[in-house]
Parts: sequence; C-alpha cells; structure tokens
Amino acid sequence: MYKYLFGPVYSRRFGISLGVDLSPEKKSCNFDCLYCELGKAKPVSNIYKEHQPEEIINEIKDFLSKNKNPDYITITANGEPTLYSKLDKLIEEINNIKGNTKTLILSNSSTIYKKDIQKTLTKFDTVKLSLDAVSENIFRKIDKPLKGISISNIIQGMKEFRKIFKNELIIEVLIVKFVNDDLEEIKKLAKVLREINPDRIDLGTIDRPPAYRVFPVNNEELDELAEIFENKGLNVNVVERKGIYAPEFELTELEIINTLKKRPLTTEDIENIFTFETKRKIERLEKEGKIKRKIINGKEFLCAIS
Ligand code: SF4
Repeated sequence: MYKYLFGPVYSRRFGISLGVDLSPEKKSCNFDCLYCELGKAKPVSNIYKEHQPEEIINEIKDFLSKNKNPDYITITANGEPTLYSKLDKLIEEINNIKGNTKTLILSNSSTIYKKDIQKTLTKFDTVKLSLDAVSENIFRKIDKPLKGISISNIIQGMKEFRKIFKNELIIEVLIVKFVNDDLEEIKKLAKVLREINPDRIDLGTIDRPPAYRVFPVNNEELDELAEIFENKGLNVNVVERKGIYAPEFELTELEIINTLKKRPLTTEDIENIFTFETKRKIERLEKEGKIKRKIINGKEFLCAIS
C-alpha cells in the first residue's frame, strides 16, 4: 500500500486524478475551515513530520509504471501543501517523470504572498487557490486561519502571482449559507476577482461532510451568485457533479479505506472509477462496518469509519 498516494479519484473538473498527500499522518493546515472535509483541527504552521521528496517520488514512479497515466497528479496535503518546505524540489522532480500527465496543486492561498512560494507554484500546470471572502471578519469566520494570516496579504499575493504565472489559474469560492453568502460581500468578492483575473472561478457549496455544523446554499442561490460574478466578466463554473466514464482502477481493501479517509466518495464516483472486484471489496468493507454511508446535501457518500 502506498503511504503518500491516494485514489485515483474522479475530480469534478480534472478527470482522473492521482492524489499525493504530503502529510499522511495527520491533518496539517493553517486554516480550520467550517466546511473542511478532513474534520476540525487546530491550525498549525508546519507539516506534521515532513518526509523526503525522494520517498514520494518513488511511489509516483511505481504507480506510473503499473497503471495508465492519470489526467492529473494532484498535490494536496491532509491540510495545506504549501506548508511543505521541500515543495520546490518535489515539483521539479515530478515534472521530470510525469510524461503527459498534468500537475495540479490545491492551496488555501495562505502563503501566496511569499515570493518563494509564488516562484514554486509557477512550476505547476494548474494552480487552484481558494478565496472564500474578502472582508477580514468573514474570512476569519469561514476559514478560521492561524493568527497573523490576513486576507489583504492573500489578495495582494494573488494579484502578484497572476502576473508571473502563465499557466491555468483557478480560484475556488466555496459558499456556506449564512456565512459568506451575503450579497454585499459577494459583490466585493467579484470586484477583487476581476482584479486578480484568474482563468476560471469554480463556485461551489458544501457537498462533502463538513467539519462544523454548517449548511450549503441551494443550486438556485448558487446560480444567482454566479450571475453576479459573470456580470463582472468572470468565467464562472458552477460546480456540479457529473456522471462519467473512467478507466477502471483496482484498489486493495487498505487502499480503499485510506482513500475514503482522505476523501469521502459518492456512490456515483465508485460506480465510475473502480473495477468490479474493487466494488465487491467496498461492499464487503461496508458489511464489516469498516466504511459507512452518509447523506450530505442530498448525495450519498461512502466514508471510512475513523
Ligand atoms: S478545507 Fe482546506 S484549507 Fe480549509 S481547513 Fe480543510 S484542509 Fe485546510
């Protein structure tokens, strides 16, 4: 079983994506977002027990030698991947072995104001940054950042990064009912997003089990908010789950549990991604009480029992 790799999982916009977790032992994030699917955790400034890039690269090489190339290699952490101090070396080495596969990093944007992080992120094919609010009080309420992280620094950093990053920049906005869905805040956010000028905005709401008791907005509200962004000339993708195809992937029982721990999957994901044998293992694990079903926002998810 791999220590750092998980999935592949179907990601809504990126197709088949092999996840690389830089913090496999424990959530390491400098935010504690209300909607986090990894559960509540005190924000921290470092990755818990950092590992060497070579160990991670060896696993990626092994995976690529035994499987069809995924569409993306996605760098994430059980938390925030830019806290990993060897990220620059890691992405350089991945770029040497990835072939046609693209690289993607999912960051909460907390470190984007740092010049060295900006430089490292230019080495990815796609960078996806989060921006849930532009007012300091709403930012603190929804993302619960570590003390000292300010939204004005983040916004400034995003603008600087856009100027030097020529590949695909996506900004993800996640709407939580009664927290960041106020129209005045959305208008301010639209103005700032226009100034940053990303290639695309992914606008979504909670659709996985959240860390705190918070609620999604419905699709009509999401469409109304999207219109405000579109009126500013922004390219908005309202995030919807799609039923698709996929190459089929075979996972062991331990790999299934490990994947569901890091990311609950819908029954639709499971149907689309895994082989018949893997689906049988999933049924078995459910009967044994090692994984369970949960309904979130009208969708059924399979989650690992922690
Ligand atoms: S959602 Fe992302 S940024 Fe927010 S606490 Fe979870 S891992 Fe950190």
